[in-house]
Amino acid sequence: MTDIVNMKGMNKYFGPLHVLKEIDLTVAKGEVVVVIGASGSGKSTLIRCVNGLEEFESGELTVDGHPLAPRSGNPQSLAEIRKEVGMVFQQFNLFPHLTVKQNIMLAPKKVKDASQSEASEIAERLLNRVGIGNQADKYPTHLSGGQQQRVAIARALAMDPRLMLFDEPTSALDPEMIGEVLDVMRELAKEGMTMMVVTHEMGFAREVADRVIYIHEGRIVEEGKPADVFDNPQNERTQAFLSRVL
Ligand code: ADP
Ligand code: MG
Repeated sequence: MTDIVNMKGMNKYFGPLHVLKEIDLTVAKGEVVVVIGASGSGKSTLIRCVNGLEEFESGELTVDGHPLAPRSGNPQSLAEIRKEVGMVFQQFNLFPHLTVKQNIMLAPKKVKDASQSEASEIAERLLNRVGIGNQADKYPTHLSGGQQQRVAIARALAMDPRLMLFDEPTSALDPEMIGEVLDVMRELAKEGMTMMVVTHEMGFAREVADRVIYIHEGRIVEEGKPADVFDNPQNERTQAFLSRVL
């Protein structure tokens, strides 16, 4: 199988703080990897390294065949990776002065040189795909949180990404809107999208993940199939964490 993400012995510091410790992690094409762990354990930093939002100090990281060197960031790889990796954050980060449709058209036009009509077609197709085709001409603030997050997913998909990164995409949502966002992510997974997902939604992780990774203080201390990690965790840290959240 082809690896989309390949990390070997990766270390990351914020000043004196050793945030990621000797991370070995691969994500195969089509695989869904869910990252769990306590607040502050390094989950966001880990996935931010994957699309070059954070530099790292040592080790190796290759994303879809593009190597990122420690510290330097390798500008050419970075440019390629930004085109190929979609990211969805806890905060939707939509442009408030653009309509929903314009938000989605922006990247195809700027990065992929799509024409106005091509970009429009892409936007309409993706808005339908995430179930909000009828909201295209509204401004983001006129949408619910769940709808805004679905727009953010559509916007990431507009780049036709090879990998999607999700960092707690439902954590800022009212409970009744979490399901509609998870549904979209579940569909994406079914269609074969390669995904790394940081989430506290253990039901989703159990159902959708091919592999679950538990991080404790910057180190991967457990990984495996969801049923194994959730029902029979081997590491005492994982056991303690799961007994708090399940
Ligand atoms: P998680 O997403 O698991 O909550 P993070 O990756 O956000 O954890 O953070 C891991 C650790 O790194 C925490 O101790 C956090 O305070 C620290 N940290 C995160 N971002 C920065 C930053 N930009 N500068 C300094 N420390 C940071
Ligand atoms: Mg985080």
